[in-house]
Amino acid sequence: MKTIYLYNSASHKKEEFVPHEPGRVSMYTCGPTVYHFAHIGNLRSYIMEDALEKLLRYAGYDVKRVMNITDVGHLASDADTGEDKMLKGAKREHKSVLEIAKFYTDAFFSDCKKLNIKYPDVVQPATGMIDEYIKVISALMDKGYAYFAGGNVYFDTSKLEKYYVFNDHDEEDLAVGVREGVEEDANKRNKNDFVLWFTKSKFEDQALKWDSPWGVGYPGWHIECSCISMKYLGEHLDIHCGGIDNAFPHHTNEIAQSEAYLGHPWCKYWMHVHHLNTNHGKMSKSSGEFLTVSLLEEKGYDPLVYRFFCLQSHYRKGLVFSWENLDNARAAYDKLIARVAALGTDGEVDQAAVQAYKDRFVEAVGNDLNTSLGVTALYDVLKADLNDATKRAVLDSFDQVLGLDLLKKADALKEQQAAPVEGAEEIEALIAKRLEAKKAKDWGTADAIRDQLKSMGVEIKDTKDGTTWARA
Ligand code: AMP
Ligand code: ZN
Repeated sequence: MKTIYLYNSASHKKEEFVPHEPGRVSMYTCGPTVYHFAHIGNLRSYIMEDALEKLLRYAGYDVKRVMNITDVGHLASDADTGEDKMLKGAKREHKSVLEIAKFYTDAFFSDCKKLNIKYPDVVQPATGMIDEYIKVISALMDKGYAYFAGGNVYFDTSKLEKYYVFNDHDEEDLAVGVREGVEEDANKRNKNDFVLWFTKSKFEDQALKWDSPWGVGYPGWHIECSCISMKYLGEHLDIHCGGIDNAFPHHTNEIAQSEAYLGHPWCKYWMHVHHLNTNHGKMSKSSGEFLTVSLLEEKGYDPLVYRFFCLQSHYRKGLVFSWENLDNARAAYDKLIARVAALGTDGEVDQAAVQAYKDRFVEAVGNDLNTSLGVTALYDVLKADLNDATKRAVLDSFDQVLGLDLLKKADALKEQQAAPVEGAEEIEALIAKRLEAKKAKDWGTADAIRDQLKSMGVEIKDTKDGTTWARA
């Protein structure tokens, strides 16, 4: 086991990572709310969490990762107001809530696959755990941590010694939590009390509801994650991940109810990924700029270019998305693959060198998930005084954490370069003709040839070293 350091949002410090059970890591991730496609902001969080999971495995830990799927019809607000997100999605698409949930769950995991995000060891839809929520809420009632008012069951935050755990987030993040999370609710005894079980909802047509000791209704959002985590990962959780917007109120409430229920500290490390922003602020499902993996693909980007783009930055810093930034990432990624493709396969792998590089990699990336140093390490290997077989072995090894398909892409590129290209002579001849036209400043002919090539499925690019071409 190699030592890993991780910033813990609960202690506000970078700490040496020591799991509850030596050698094993229990890891919980807040999954998607499946009423729409995940946007690439959501996926930034999942990419960075995936890199953390892979780093831990790479460092020798046995990791068990659990994720929920939020398919219970949750309200847009934490109070009993706002629109039910799932129902909204169902209405929009003239489908049932369950159909919507299935469709967007599948879409989410298909996006994850394209981004090389590993499927969690356990995936639990929230609708499958109603008995657990009732069990935990009943226990909270018995212990005096919960009360019944106006038809709902609330958690009583005044019973806690400490409620705010993550009080070092940006004003802006907190403001979002406040805006989205807290509205006046006359039933609450304290401002931060939150609903554990709803029976009184303003929606008569609430699609999913279940019987409970407090009447027919449905669970609050926060109880899901606590119960799912405790069921599969036990009473001691090592790492809980999520986007920074979830630190308050969602994760704060998870801690409140889990520790009240268990009677002891629950989760040791909290890892929060900061936002993907656009020029207008945080990318969100409700705001206009909502980019998906499918959209990136439609525009001709390999989804792994987006992963590469994310890995180049630290997860605890906001990341600004722009097409120009993504283009820069694509150019760098393509160049990297070309450099890997230029490596031969001769020579014997120097196993001692591979091990030394692996150790250094864990040391660098293991310092609070410094993935950009992980990317830099790839270039160091390419430049190193090692034979090509060893370089390939080291790159392949690093890729277990980075997930960039380096060798696979490089080998495909090599194959493509080696294959005889049908019609290549004709294409080269047209390019030569276009060059002559350009020299003669006959732009009309030059453009016409470009269009002709385009209609043949050939894209050309003018570079300072001449014109290159590729099949579109
Ligand atoms: P949701 O599907 O809304 O429950 O969000 C899924 C995950 O994405 C959560 O961990 C959120 O905190 C995270 N998230 C939401 N918006 C962003 C963003 N713009 N950048 C990074 N992560 C985000
Ligand atoms: Zn959660």
